[in-house]
Amino acid sequence: MAILPILEVPDPRLRRISEPVAAVTDEIRTLIADMFETMYDAPGIGLAAAQVDVPIRLLVMDLGDGPEDAEGNPGPNPRVFINPEILEPSEDHSVFNEGCLSVPDQYADVERPAHVRARWMDEHGVQHDAQLDGLLSTCLQHEMDHLNGILFIDHLSRLKRDMVLKKIEKARAGGSAGSGSARPAGSRRKAAA
Ligand SMILES: [Zn+2]
Repeated sequence: MAILPILEVPDPRLRRISEPVAAVTDEIRTLIADMFETMYDAPGIGLAAAQVDVPIRLLVMDLGDGPEDAEGNPGPNPRVFINPEILEPSEDHSVFNEGCLSVPDQYADVERPAHVRARWMDEHGVQHDAQLDGLLSTCLQHEMDHLNGILFIDHLSRLKRDMVLKKIEKARAGGSAGSGSARPAGSRRKAAA
């Protein structure tokens, strides 16, 4: 397995439209394993193949809502979505404070449909059709945006989006570019996807 470099704004490759996955080959299975390793290392809760420069309709997710371990802590819950589609977005909306591994260290409230009916294939080629809500619904919509070249900051006002991009530019210019960017003391680590 390998940790893959994650594309960051303003890389134009993040704006490509991803192509459908034709079949779950060994190559795809290796990519899925690498994407999980990359996501856990970042750390993040979701990652689209487009973010690691492979423009195909594949994404991985782990919201840490798996079966509890002996101490009662929720366990990992790796999920794979291949060629996902949203069939029925709900009319009611919810707001989550979103972050993105391609928009480093920036978070903003984004409003999206609260529930969605979605269809996708998993890594075993099994088709799923399910109603999703809460963080799972939001995270799937965030990741599916990546497949269409859209970033969460595109859902913000132009003013807010420009502020976010300027902050990233400033952080890079301030010498914190590269790996291991410093976080302000006491800041809680939030989930990015
Ligand atoms: Zn993202």
